[in-house]
Amino acid sequence: MSNHDTLRVDLGERSYDILVGSNLLADTAKYIAPFVKKAGVVVISDAALSDNHLPTVLTSLDGAGIPHREVVVPSGEKSKSFAMFENVVEQILAMGIERSTLIIALGGGVVGDLAGFVAASLLRGLDFVQIPTTLLSQVDSSVGGKTGINSKSGKNLIGAFHQPRLVLADTSVLDTLPARELRSGYAEVAKYGLIDDPEFFAWLEENGQAVLDKDGPERRQAVIKSCAAKARIVSEDEREGGKRALLNLGHTFGHALEAETGYGEKLLHGEAVAMGMVIAHDVCGAMGMAPAGEKDRIVAHLKSVGLPVTASEVTGMHWDIDKVISHMSRDKKVRDGEITFVMTRGIGKAFTSKAMDVEKMRAAITRSCR
Ligand code: NAD
Ligand code: MG
Repeated sequence: MSNHDTLRVDLGERSYDILVGSNLLADTAKYIAPFVKKAGVVVISDAALSDNHLPTVLTSLDGAGIPHREVVVPSGEKSKSFAMFENVVEQILAMGIERSTLIIALGGGVVGDLAGFVAASLLRGLDFVQIPTTLLSQVDSSVGGKTGINSKSGKNLIGAFHQPRLVLADTSVLDTLPARELRSGYAEVAKYGLIDDPEFFAWLEENGQAVLDKDGPERRQAVIKSCAAKARIVSEDEREGGKRALLNLGHTFGHALEAETGYGEKLLHGEAVAMGMVIAHDVCGAMGMAPAGEKDRIVAHLKSVGLPVTASEVTGMHWDIDKVISHMSRDKKVRDGEITFVMTRGIGKAFTSKAMDVEKMRAAITRSCR
């Protein structure tokens, strides 16, 4: 098996490749070579990678004689702040960069979003390469060009569309990822099946555990399928006017749950998405849109890989349903005061609509939370 597969994200002059394979980091220099100029690269990385994956990347750059500097940020969502943005930008400017300096984002979605926005802002835009190191970032955040940081008023409210020049998704780096983080990212993988690919969902029912267990053909296949799905949707709708909204399946409900828990360790994003996808299928079943039994199949699969499926599983939470619902209307996806929901007619049949039965929605959220 060749050591990587290549997917193309078609966005005219902003098109780029996603390479998916094992042990790619050791050859970072080779893959990024077309984008490296004399000014060299600045690697922005996560402190959790300082002893393993960052040295692998730097060794490769050294071997190829590529000039490099590093900026390491603390692990966790808190690094997607104005303060950290300022800190990183000032550090990089003090290094004396040029328009041709390449930024490399090495880390999960936190580093990808922060470093992408840093790249978008510095000297009005530097090229950047994504090297995602979590399952979530490999299948979701590294593809599509959304970059940004959080504000006191909410998550991801400050940012820019800035497409990477290349995405290097090395599935073997996921071996060091905590199991809970891996499972959380898996919720986004399952999401692609639920949006519009029932065969992929059925494949995951057979192979999902293998995807999580170890680096191998199943994991690679799952990352490829997911990136291909995201790339296709993004190519059709780069700036979220229509189809891209389908990627929010389970997210309006999930974000409301996350907001109530304060976006921390209590409830990881993918866990909230798993719960949100179940709520979405529950409401649509109750509204008579989706066949009865589809929700149970989803619940069974998510449970089988160890994901929580109801909000009641979050320890120590006493949910206030009114507050959960009020978080939904503060979601970014609200347009002209109306919420666009991702609804479903069953597995692989998601669509967007504003026509939500509010009573049934409330009942489904209550079923999840109690
Ligand atoms: P993360 O970046 O915080 O990584 C999760 C944890 O894993 C962190 O503690 C990190 O230090 C650690 N880690 C990362 N790689 C590791 C590795 N290989 N081995 C061991 N530990 C490792 O979180 P995430 O789930 O990757 O990303 C979440 C972020 O992504 C959120 O801020 C979210 O808003 C953003 N996001 C953005 C988009 C987008 O389109 N831009 C899409 C989805 C999510
Ligand atoms: Mg998500």
